[in-house]
Amino acid sequence: VSDQRQADSLGLDPAEMRRLGYWVVDRVIEHMERDDQGPAVRESPLRELLEALDGPPPQSPGDPLVAMQTLVDVALGNMQHGDHPRYFARVPGPSSFAGVLGDWLGTGFNAISASWAGGSGPATAELVVLGWLRTLLGLAPDAEGVLTSGGSLANLMGLIVARKRRGSGVAYLCDQTHASIERGLVAIGFTHEQIRILPSDDCYRMSPEAVADAVAQDRRNGLRPGFVIATVGTTNTGAVDQIGDLARICAEASMWLHVDGAYGAPAALCPRARNVARDLERADSIVLDPHKWLFQPYDLGCLWVREPGALTDAFAMTPEYLTDASAALGEVDFRDRTLELSRRARALKLWLMFHIYGLEGIQTGIARGIALAEYAERTLSSDERWEVVTPAQLGIVTFALRGADAAEHAARSEALARDGYAAVTATSLRGRSVLRICTINPRTTERDIDTTLDRLATIQI
Ligand SMILES: *Cc1c(COP(=O)(O)O)cnc(C)c1O
Repeated sequence: VSDQRQADSLGLDPAEMRRLGYWVVDRVIEHMERDDQGPAVRESPLRELLEALDGPPPQSPGDPLVAMQTLVDVALGNMQHGDHPRYFARVPGPSSFAGVLGDWLGTGFNAISASWAGGSGPATAELVVLGWLRTLLGLAPDAEGVLTSGGSLANLMGLIVARKRRGSGVAYLCDQTHASIERGLVAIGFTHEQIRILPSDDCYRMSPEAVADAVAQDRRNGLRPGFVIATVGTTNTGAVDQIGDLARICAEASMWLHVDGAYGAPAALCPRARNVARDLERADSIVLDPHKWLFQPYDLGCLWVREPGALTDAFAMTPEYLTDASAALGEVDFRDRTLELSRRARALKLWLMFHIYGLEGIQTGIARGIALAEYAERTLSSDERWEVVTPAQLGIVTFALRGADAAEHAARSEALARDGYAAVTATSLRGRSVLRICTINPRTTERDIDTTLDRLATIQI
């Protein structure tokens, strides 16, 4: 037994750790420097991937660089590159290097943000970033928040808090509501009889009239209206629901208003898109995903609840928090605001991003995404081959190739992805087949949009 302690818990020495660490930094920066080289998305059959990654668990130490290169080539080479300038499918992930640095620091120090005693520093960073975003979104100053792994978990937790406050009742969604909401409701025990999926209006927004009618009808049938789930920036079209009107209906019927801003709420940081932020303070709970449009690497979501104490009331692991002296000082045990216990310090990367680029840099990045979609809409409108189906809204445009059906749209989008040149989504809006691009990557150029649309129209299928 030696009393010489090693730097690495399983024995790598510091010189080797530096060599490997710098190698990682170099690969990551090369990846970011690649401009538009390499595919926007790449998928391979499992059999091929297993050939490179599978085998019996290695018994003895191996060459780290060989193993790391395999990860770079195979594991990281076969995925959607959401940071590629022509990745327009689903929701891209144009994460910033500042965010990566914050994650690296937190991981390197193995930071934990579960209790105040175990992580007062990370917890304070979490309070600070949640406070910044709360102010920027115009939420009530005493709304309480927590960071999550993403929008799905944040939505689920928002719904759990809502039910805890309001008891059981009917939930009102619309046909554009994100699928994580219905999944969350069912997971926490809602029956399909307690979930109304209402038709959206002509702009694919939740219709306040449809909600009011459904609420009235449920009341006549002796049911209890409980929850309205609105969306700020739908994933399909970027549509923003009329939060003020929905809040009024909710207030009259004592219903909880949950706002899913996972995709679109970051636009509220931008003066150009200020309309997004209108009435957000009237939501009882609200969700935003920094790993979508706030330039953060996966994973990072946020949830705020307007009523102070409601999060803790739903999630505290022990009742002692009620008498905990630290609570009086504003010191938060984040495990008591979420379903997680051991959790990494997700706030660090967000804190660092604000410090490195400033709010101005972030706003410029968001505004660029909004402007690129407007450019795409103008380009599509001026080209006979295309029809714009929904206008540019929060970085999303949907459109159709004149005369094409769903099979042709799907075939064109698949051919483009197979080629690796670009990725777009083929989807449907209330039964109508459309193509969709999401332009939130600030590194995308107008030319990227022109060439992608042109290839999409002309590619051999
Ligand atoms: C992406 C998205 C979600 C789910 O968020 P994840 O972070 O992927 O779990 C929920 N709602 C909307 C509107 C979204 O766009």
